[in-house]
Amino acid sequence: MSTIAIDVDEVLLSYINGLVCFYYIVYDDKIPGKPAITADMFRKYHFATDLECSDDESKKLTDAFHASKVFKRLPPVRGSVRGLQTLKARGHKLCVVTSRELAVRDITVSMLNEIYPTIFEPEDIHFGNQYGDSGEKKSKRQMCMEIEADILIDDLPRHVMSVSSETKGILFGNYPWNEGDYDVIRASDWADVVKTVDALV
Ligand SMILES: [Mg+2]
Repeated sequence: MSTIAIDVDEVLLSYINGLVCFYYIVYDDKIPGKPAITADMFRKYHFATDLECSDDESKKLTDAFHASKVFKRLPPVRGSVRGLQTLKARGHKLCVVTSRELAVRDITVSMLNEIYPTIFEPEDIHFGNQYGDSGEKKSKRQMCMEIEADILIDDLPRHVMSVSSETKGILFGNYPWNEGDYDVIRASDWADVVKTVDALV
C-alpha cells in the first residue's frame, strides 16, 4: 500500500475550462482588450502572465470566479472518477494536496466529496494556501513530506520536480503549461496514471 498525494486543479477538477466559461459568460469586468479568453492562452499557469494583465486584474478575476456558481460546479477531469476508484481498490491511501487557499477550503472539500464519494477521508485533504491573503502557506514538497507521500500526481512541472527523494512525482496530462522535456515520469491521462502507479509500487 502506498500513500498517493493528488493535486486538485487540472488533475481532479477542470479549473481552466471553468474559468474560461465564467470569463466569457458571467464576468462583467473584462480585462482591457480581452472580450474572451481561451484555454490555450494558459501557457505558464501564472494567470497575470498568461492573460497579459496586472496581478490586481488577475486576482480580481479569480476572486470573482471563486465566488461564482461556475466554480462550485467544475467538472471532473476525464477518467478521474474511475482512476481514483481503481487506486483505492488496490489498497492505496489517497490524499489531496492542493495549493488552493483556505478561503475555498469548504467548497473544495464539498466538491471532492460530491464527485468522489468515499475516496478521501476529511483529514487527508490538505491546503497549501499559496494564494491566501492570510494564514500559513505550505509548498507541495512540505505537504508531501508531512503525509509521507510515496507518490505525488500533479500537472505542474515545478511541483513534480520539487518533491524530496522520498516521493516519486508523476507529471499529469498533456497541457500547454507542461509541454516540453522534463526529467520526470509522465502520465498523459488517468488510465495512464493507474498503469504508472502499478509499475512504481
Ligand atoms: Mg494543478
